[in-house]
Amino acid sequence: MSSSSTPRVIIIGGGIIGAASAYHLTRRGASVTLLEREALGAGASSGNAGLIAVGHPPLPKPGVTWQAFKWMFDSTSPLYIPPRFRPDLIRWLWQFNKASKPEFFQRSMKVLAALGRAAVDSFDEILEVENVAAETNYHRGGQIEVFRTERGRDGCRAEGDELRRLGFEIEELDQSQLREREPGYQDDVLGAVVWTDSAFADPRAFTLALLRCAQRDGATVHAEQPIESIVAGQGHFTGVRLPDGSVMEADALILAAGIWTTQLARAIGINVPMQPAKGYHVELSAPPVNVKMAGVLKETFVAINPMGGGLRLAGTLEFSGLDDQVRHERLNALVEGARKYIRGIDECKRLTEWFGYRPCTADGLPVIGRAPQYENVFIGTGHAMMGFGLGPITGKMLAELVMDGTTSTPLAPALSPGRFAR
Ligand SMILES: Cc1cc2nc3c(=O)[nH]c(=O)nc-3n(C[C@H](O)[C@H](O)[C@H](O)COP(=O)(O)OP(=O)(O)OC[C@H]3O[C@@H](n4cnc5c(N)ncnc54)[C@H](O)[C@@H]3O)c2cc1C
Repeated sequence: MSSSSTPRVIIIGGGIIGAASAYHLTRRGASVTLLEREALGAGASSGNAGLIAVGHPPLPKPGVTWQAFKWMFDSTSPLYIPPRFRPDLIRWLWQFNKASKPEFFQRSMKVLAALGRAAVDSFDEILEVENVAAETNYHRGGQIEVFRTERGRDGCRAEGDELRRLGFEIEELDQSQLREREPGYQDDVLGAVVWTDSAFADPRAFTLALLRCAQRDGATVHAEQPIESIVAGQGHFTGVRLPDGSVMEADALILAAGIWTTQLARAIGINVPMQPAKGYHVELSAPPVNVKMAGVLKETFVAINPMGGGLRLAGTLEFSGLDDQVRHERLNALVEGARKYIRGIDECKRLTEWFGYRPCTADGLPVIGRAPQYENVFIGTGHAMMGFGLGPITGKMLAELVMDGTTSTPLAPALSPGRFAR
């Protein structure tokens, strides 16, 4: 797909992957049109926890299936699967269970570790050129995982050993070291680990900044512009059909439509099976002593990120399909989960409540690459809980695939969209 020197590229989706693709493509001189169905910065890429968690495990991991089964009947648990029969979900869970086996998990960890290293570098690469670190609240230098129990500490240490084996650095803080660094935690919090190679930011601000820079460099960005379908045949993409029936033509397509990628791809014969994992956030006004570092409250799985002068609490995985129902008990569980760790949560006002869908593959790995059977369709999706952190490197790789046919960072075959071909 590098025959024309100024290829016309359509990107479907204005989330972090679409935004990063637009940014890198325009810098390479492509003529880019990005189409986003909603307002810019409205989807999963805006409301997530903003953690750029490097080297962290995928969803399917040893022991998780049994844990999920135990949580199945508790709608306030961190992972919730409503107990009702859905053949697509059952098929997905079957594959998920296979991917949770230790050998598969170890292979996935290696793939994600390599991608994670490149991911942080790709944030740095953008921030070296664009003066957006302050407006996006970008912090390099680690994220924290705070534990209240001995069991939590053991869990953090075990994860830490795994990450060290992969070459990452971890710092453990005892109770007094944590208190010195982060005085906002409750007295009975036992300590924390700092994942030194990780980072955090305000994901909406970052996504919008990338879109703005892409527009400055010549990209056309249409918000509230859904596409009805992809026009393609005989292995070749020619355009996208808009709701008024007109066709917008281009030389290449980047499909970065989050969980909605599955149905758009299926219509042109590409199989990218995913399940939406709904997650929520609650934004609070700042507690009396706000936390400084974003991270995770270990035992409750609540992610925290100080942003916009307040505190975002995010989490929960709900496999209930694309059902837009807000389960208030899950929003409340986030606040309950944070209260145990952070002082003064009861004094905070609830500013916003939000939910979004993580696009999840059953094998826990992202989907990045050229679509099978199509010479000029490229897919970036399936990033589950890691899409904000991995979005910029995915966008860069997709841009390179369009422009050069190859990527400067090796792209593991395990990430290929072709792995689902039937
Ligand atoms: C509660 C929660 C917490 C999370 N925390 C983190 C975290 O800390 N760190 C992390 O790395 N990741 C996190 N994630 C995951 C992350 O948010 C996602 O993986 C990532 O945002 C996915 O980005 P995307 O660009 O693939 O998809 P999206 O952000 O979903 O963007 C896809 C876009 O495509 C648009 N679209 C769909 N169909 C069409 C169409 N037909 N026409 C035009 N546009 C269309 C949609 O409107 C959407 O805006 C979290 C997710 C949730 C829900």
